[in-house]
Amino acid sequence: MKRIYLDYAATTPIDPRANKAMRDFELHDFGNPSSTHREGQTARAKIDFARAGIARFINAKPQEIIFTSGATEANNLAIQGVVNYHRFKDKFKPHIVTTLLEHHSVYNTVKELEDRGIIEASYVKPNRNGVIRAEQITKAIKPNTVLASVIFVSNEIGSILPIREIGHELSLIPANRRIVYHVDAVQAAQFYNCNVEKLGCNLLTLSAHKIYGPKGIGALYVRSGLSARGGSAFGGKMANLSFGGSQEYGLRPGTQNTAGIIGFAHAVKFLGSLEQRHINAEKISVLRDQLINGALKITQVKLNGPLGENRAANNVSLTVYGVDQDAFMTALDLAGIAASTGSACISGSSKPSHVIEALGKIGRKKAATVRFTLGAATNASEIQFAVDALNKIIKQLRT
Ligand code: PMP
Repeated sequence: MKRIYLDYAATTPIDPRANKAMRDFELHDFGNPSSTHREGQTARAKIDFARAGIARFINAKPQEIIFTSGATEANNLAIQGVVNYHRFKDKFKPHIVTTLLEHHSVYNTVKELEDRGIIEASYVKPNRNGVIRAEQITKAIKPNTVLASVIFVSNEIGSILPIREIGHELSLIPANRRIVYHVDAVQAAQFYNCNVEKLGCNLLTLSAHKIYGPKGIGALYVRSGLSARGGSAFGGKMANLSFGGSQEYGLRPGTQNTAGIIGFAHAVKFLGSLEQRHINAEKISVLRDQLINGALKITQVKLNGPLGENRAANNVSLTVYGVDQDAFMTALDLAGIAASTGSACISGSSKPSHVIEALGKIGRKKAATVRFTLGAATNASEIQFAVDALNKIIKQLRT
């Protein structure tokens, strides 16, 4: 049976060119990048080259890129790294400002630190359309705020947050208590400008498998002066989470995933210039709107997240009233469509996520939420197929 993949925010297929570069490395230049012999130095040179390419993509310096096992680890390093520094140095309890639109790797990390009594936290709430304004972030700041962690593009409902404006507002705070600004740009990188100077952020998270790269590799941009460097855990404004060798400037010890790093750099290169990414976004948003318009013709189907330019080019998140979540997802899968319930990370759970709950639309009504995310191979006939399937399935499940 024909399958239609509409879950690109969960993961993307790897670009065959990136995959080939990885395989070539693994077969021929397998050295440990920390070894001083020629094999090791060949691997090291490949990492250096990849690091420089990824740094260029976000207008950073190569030494500001820290490779991790993915965005979950990068987000944990960002949040816990900053908290650990303050926790051991300051007398006050650190406060974090974040939002209710964050991915679980930020939201659950902040919640856990709060539950353990290590931090105080404020969770900025979106309006019913999933919009958060820059001043909501600055209003939540307190004298003990050490970190603001804000998602760039919501993986669930596609809201684009005003990252630049937030960066500007935070830069107005006096230097002696400047707050570290972390941006989770995982879902933004393929379409939008992630230039760290323009965004005004100190930390920024990327993940390769959302941009046609391999799984299990990501990066945290750490602005110069923020990390300890060389393993002195409390020297900078971030403390290590793990200890070991001096890889990744001492901030993330352990032998690097060289093949993954090579694949990641290739994926970033193939995203193209900002102009090209904007053209891709424009093209895909036409298909997105075809799906939105088709779905909203069905009664009691509502769009989650904003419309227009505040919405990610590839995201369609719907709430379908009067149908059971699990039955709906099963029916879609049987019809040949791969989509996810809100965020893929909670699929298998029929409870709405913190993001969907924050919109306050569902209450105790019977409803299903579904997220379709479009990608490079999506075309108009696939979208028409999905619209027809939605019509049929919703009708069947409501009768
Ligand atoms: N942040 C966002 C916005 C995401 O969409 C994801 C993946 N769903 C992550 C973080 C976690 O990424 P990874 O799978 O690389 O850990």
